[in-house]
Amino acid sequence: MIYLENIVKEFPNKTRALNGINLHIKPKEFAIIVGRSGAGKSTLIQLITKQEEPTKGNIYVGGINYKELRKGDLPYIRRKIGVVFQDFKLLPKKTVYENVSYALEVSGVKSSEIKSRVPKILDIVGLANKAKNFPNELSGGEQQRVAIARALVHQPKILIADEPTGNLDPKTAWGIMDLLMKINEQGGRTVVLTTHNKEIVDKVKKRVITIKNGKVVSDQQGGGYTA
Ligand code: ADP
Repeated sequence: MIYLENIVKEFPNKTRALNGINLHIKPKEFAIIVGRSGAGKSTLIQLITKQEEPTKGNIYVGGINYKELRKGDLPYIRRKIGVVFQDFKLLPKKTVYENVSYALEVSGVKSSEIKSRVPKILDIVGLANKAKNFPNELSGGEQQRVAIARALVHQPKILIADEPTGNLDPKTAWGIMDLLMKINEQGGRTVVLTTHNKEIVDKVKKRVITIKNGKVVSDQQGGGYTA
């Protein structure tokens, strides 16, 4: 599903954020990327979501070689991969419903389809009763649920989350992890996330990939937090 082959990423200021990453994440896998601040986690996520280009190496997602993608193909990738950020990135002047429906409107989905799809997604993330609220009327965990709902609107095969629990207290963070695991197990989607949260990593017993100085230093099924 996601293949990274000998990936090097050097920024224009010569910082080498990634230094020879080889990684294969299979369909329906749940993979957690851990590592200290500055290890290269966000850069890795940005390469997978095509926000950044690698300096060297190849990236394949769903059988597509990113090097062969043209500009016009980007929306296709955006639909294949749902992305969730630490700071939610919601539209403050739109309601919960509108934050989710807007993502469908801008890609030209019919309004009858939007009306049927949005309530179902809000139900999955447990926010059916908050559809009319604005982001500033929600807790951090609820805001993250809206962001997850929005990431799911195009029914992507892959959900990528960069520190999705980073701004949340431990109990709320668990709720978000539970939701991501449900999306993985019941929705059959590949989920890749980064986290600093040792307690969560140790408890969930999923695949844990540890990055250090831009390299994979450990990759274990059911592993603990070793960063
Ligand atoms: P993490 O997410 O693990 O904290 P990052 O991927 O953000 O790590 O950063 C890895 C390294 O790359 C760090 O040394 C960071 O300072 C550097 N870096 C990240 N983004 C940029 C950028 N846009 N320009 C220059 N250096 C960057």
